[in-house]
Amino acid sequence: MRALIDLLRESRHTVVFTGAGVSTLSGIPDFRGEQGIYRRVDGDLVFDLGVFLRDPGIFYTHGRDLVYGAADHAPSIVHTECARLEAAGKVAGVITQNIDMLHQRAGSRTVVELHGSPARHSCLGCDRRYDFAWARERVARGEIPRCAGCGGVVKPDITFFGELLPDGALERAGDLAAAADLLLVLGSSLVVQPAASIPLITCRCGGRLVIVNHGATPLDRYADLRYDDLASVFARVAAEV
Ligand code: NAD
Repeated sequence: MRALIDLLRESRHTVVFTGAGVSTLSGIPDFRGEQGIYRRVDGDLVFDLGVFLRDPGIFYTHGRDLVYGAADHAPSIVHTECARLEAAGKVAGVITQNIDMLHQRAGSRTVVELHGSPARHSCLGCDRRYDFAWARERVARGEIPRCAGCGGVVKPDITFFGELLPDGALERAGDLAAAADLLLVLGSSLVVQPAASIPLITCRCGGRLVIVNHGATPLDRYADLRYDDLASVFARVAAEV
């Protein structure tokens, strides 16, 4: 791990790219890991836009734990270290696929949420906006959140399969990745596109790539360094960077 510590110390513009694996340390299951959600639930169905439009109850039944339950979990060492390194001027920003808002709760300021955020909800009928707490309260009561104005179904502003990424998110992530001299991929299977191709931007621009993930990813052959376990890597980062 000496090589990673050296790379981090030398870097002038480190960017962190995170997936659901960083939040397993907070007790939130990932999708495709050993205890992943896909072993219990068909995530492709729960997060599919067409399914949501036909029957929003499927999302809200499973979302009670998967999305709104995240508020009961605390940031992990990975989240807090990313925030500490940003405050110290070492990390330029976090690009995340996660929808649990734990990077912001840990104190990270530059966070690109590639797959949107449940911090905001929108009425599908009249576009009226609602916040996380408003929706969470209704979902906890077993309700499908409905607009107080028009009665339409309210949807979280997270990116479902079949939707475009939020306006500008891909561009902001691409700019961060292009400027990075070091990009850390943390806890992602790197199979959800277009997010999964962002680390390649850093490689093409001459930056280094480090992947920390249980199990192989399609970008392993581009990685300068590869580690398996986030907890042990970040224990060293916390102690030595
Ligand atoms: P993924 O589930 O496909 O991959 C997570 C990877 O992290 C797996 O390969 C797993 O083995 C690895 N991992 C888990 N714990 C680890 C640890 N302690 N150390 C090292 N590796 C570990 O998730 P993904 O790549 O982020 O893509 C799937 C989609 O899942 C994203 O779009 C995201 O929106 C969504 N998602 C988000 C959350 C969340 O916000 N917390 C949770 C589940 C799914």
